[in-house]
Amino acid sequence: MESYIFENARILDGSSDEGEQDHFVRVAGKLIEEVSDRPIKDSSAKHIDLRGKTLMPGLIDCHVHINSGGSPDPSVLSRLPSELIAYHSVNILKGILHRGFTTVRDVGGATFAQVQAIEQGIVEGPRVVGCGKGFVQTGGHVDARTRYDLDDGAYHLTQLGACARVVNGVDACRQAARDEIRKGARFLKVHAGGGAASMYFPRAYLAFSLDELRAFKEEADNARMYICVHTHSDEAVRRALDCQIWSIEHGTLISPETAAIARQRDATVTPTIIAYEAQIREAKALGLDPEAVERLKWVRARGPESLEIMQQAGVKIAYGSDVLGSMWDYQSEEFPILTEVLRPIDAIRTATINAARLVRLEGKVGTISTGAFADLLVLDVDPLKDISALCDQGRHMSAIMKNGVFVKNQLNA
Ligand SMILES: [Zn+2]
Repeated sequence: MESYIFENARILDGSSDEGEQDHFVRVAGKLIEEVSDRPIKDSSAKHIDLRGKTLMPGLIDCHVHINSGGSPDPSVLSRLPSELIAYHSVNILKGILHRGFTTVRDVGGATFAQVQAIEQGIVEGPRVVGCGKGFVQTGGHVDARTRYDLDDGAYHLTQLGACARVVNGVDACRQAARDEIRKGARFLKVHAGGGAASMYFPRAYLAFSLDELRAFKEEADNARMYICVHTHSDEAVRRALDCQIWSIEHGTLISPETAAIARQRDATVTPTIIAYEAQIREAKALGLDPEAVERLKWVRARGPESLEIMQQAGVKIAYGSDVLGSMWDYQSEEFPILTEVLRPIDAIRTATINAARLVRLEGKVGTISTGAFADLLVLDVDPLKDISALCDQGRHMSAIMKNGVFVKNQLNA
């Protein structure tokens, strides 16, 4: 394994507001072995001068679906052949990594075998922390059946493109939770409310009874893991918090009162505003009907307000994109949206320290410190001055490293 010393780097991981100037970072094997404000001597290591550049930890996207290639429509995705979905995921994973995201949390769809394929180097991609299939009640937001389908929905379980499985009743919820844990889930995902633009199961709907939610929660607790919940309405968020669930997806309509509770419970919310923005911009190409676009516009417009509410309450926010189908090129575009409200450094924290905590890899990812994985980005432009340094398909990243290996290296060293 190669070792490297990055010299004279300005390091920026969110642990301070401005970052640290003139630092030296030694990478050996997969890990960051040393971080110092003095030159590090090691004649066997390759020295790389980063004067004038910024060294960041690899980014973390806490809301992705790697098995979403082929269509943006869950009802189509869930019926596509699994091999096709798997081949699409190869391109999706590569794209993610080359945008500088070295860790992702897959919140529905990724299998243990896919995680292994990356770990074994068969497929180039980020570190994936997955939950297997999410859980949806009959007719819920990602029950992919249309009104014309007459089957029982059992196919969700075996189709790679289905991000969730259909489950109802306390006992069945427990069994399904145990089954996903058996198959390697690192956390559980529950669809606890309606979809942003859903016609069949609108965003105001609640999903799963409190007993079912508590059953999922107990199974997760027993396995020392946590639950994340899909929610848009304030009531859905509140219900989840009442069930002691602290990882909230979307949370679009969160009220100041609920945000205060979220803060008190130390919950983390992962908004995914770019998911709506991308669909609005691509509406024509996607063939979305005008009513759906109106619903998306409404949710998109509400995005900055919810960010403001959360920021004022001091709620932890994590980075999420939730882009599907052909919209992956928008993955990094949540950064500029976040900075409509947050300071650039706080937007960066959503994809570094806040995200690391959410994926339960604190100290290992999202940080430039001794003992962390050597997941690193070299930026030509200061992202505190211009957040788009993190956008444009990784164009402003002259180097991307994952586990101590360069994925991209345009440094002349
Ligand atoms: Zn999602």
